[in-house]
Amino acid sequence: MPLLTKAVRGTRDVLPQEAYLYRYLENTALETARNFGYAELRLPVFEHTELFERGVGGTTDVVQKEMYTFFDKSGRSITLRPEGTAGAARACLEHGLLAEALPRKVCYALNCYRYEKPQAGRYREFRQFGVECFGAAAPSADAELIALAAELFSAIGLEHYRIELNSIGCPGCRKVYLESLREYFQQHQDTLCGTCNERLAKNPMRILDCKSPVCASVAANAPKVVDYLCPDCQSHFSAVQRLLDAMGIPFTLNPLIVRGLDYYTRTVFEFISESPELEGLTLGAGGRYDGLIEELGGQYTPSLGWAMGLERVLLQLKTGNAPLPEQEPCVLFIASRGEDAATVTMQLVNALRAEGLHVQSDIAGRSLKAQMKFADKIGAQYTMVLGEEELQTRRANLKNMSSGVEEAVSLDDLAEWVEQKIIQTMQEDLQAYFNE
Ligand code: ATP
Ligand code: MG
Repeated sequence: MPLLTKAVRGTRDVLPQEAYLYRYLENTALETARNFGYAELRLPVFEHTELFERGVGGTTDVVQKEMYTFFDKSGRSITLRPEGTAGAARACLEHGLLAEALPRKVCYALNCYRYEKPQAGRYREFRQFGVECFGAAAPSADAELIALAAELFSAIGLEHYRIELNSIGCPGCRKVYLESLREYFQQHQDTLCGTCNERLAKNPMRILDCKSPVCASVAANAPKVVDYLCPDCQSHFSAVQRLLDAMGIPFTLNPLIVRGLDYYTRTVFEFISESPELEGLTLGAGGRYDGLIEELGGQYTPSLGWAMGLERVLLQLKTGNAPLPEQEPCVLFIASRGEDAATVTMQLVNALRAEGLHVQSDIAGRSLKAQMKFADKIGAQYTMVLGEEELQTRRANLKNMSSGVEEAVSLDDLAEWVEQKIIQTMQEDLQAYFNE
């Protein structure tokens, strides 16, 4: 019979050979963020649609084209989260986390949903790790936030990327800028795509973000927001750069990066791949959004954050041959012959697992030969065969599957033997590493 159905377009099944890498990335990210004072949040997958309309913004592609919005059975408009910032801000406001001890730093690893054209590194369900820092106005907050990303990349061995930085000013300086931007784009109105013509009326800054090559070439010569910064925004931006320099974190300025919403302010940045295979792919992005919390009904709370796409980060690690951890192997497979031996095997395996060891035995009722074949297939590091004789003597041969060396061990202190073997293998690996 043919399969009933397949995974929905744009979604990906993460299989065992990859799933543990996501866990590794998320754990490393959480640990790194924790050292910077970030605590994890777990958030709902869906929210009221208006949260994203306000919190992401009505003129963004995300809200205009990409949201999974539906009415639930009681007629409420619900949206699957396209990103994490709005939900994190809502949760912190709702539970009074922004009422004291600011800055409040939260982070999350979550799935996001966007109706986009699926392609390499772009899916309809994808994973993000993100951090949000609420209630920190100083340039040191921006610099620390970027330092956290740099530290995380270093912790996972991600190389070949650049940090692109820009400032889009505050509502004050932006007003003047938007006027000259609109004036400039009006002169090129016929060249711009349909969407950008709409953007021209609503929010001309979004044109700078258009992926169409024609619009991008027009945008390249548009007035630059950095030339319009007020003295306060100018000095904030200079201080961020000075602090990044002081920490030895390299960055390049890119006046075209925008987060074109009224409540996004000042610093914006992107982490961009420089690996030959993925050149130009955005691994993550973020910035300051001093107006967001007010927009969601809270008090003015200068805040900032970033998010990175875990699929893209993993893609970059794999193409760059970064050192990824190995999947935990099965240390021991105990094969058995006969019913008595099978029973003792179950006892032994159960006791070893209680010691935290990854051991397996036959649960398919196979012949001894087939058991050994299976042990080989799953890459068991050691094997052992229990038969009548082994039960009587309470001793069995522990076989190292890579060297073929066997040694007799007592069944009564098997756990210690196996643990010792693990330590020995680790020492040998370490030795080999230092000898390289
Ligand atoms: P892009 O310009 O690539 O569409 P974006 O500006 O929409 O990205 P953000 O909203 O800033 O992306 O999201 C942060 C990160 O999440 C991105 O840098 C990217 O790594 C990841 N991301 C965004 N959309 C997708 C997607 N559809 N599939 C996989 N990862 C994504
Ligand atoms: Mg996008």
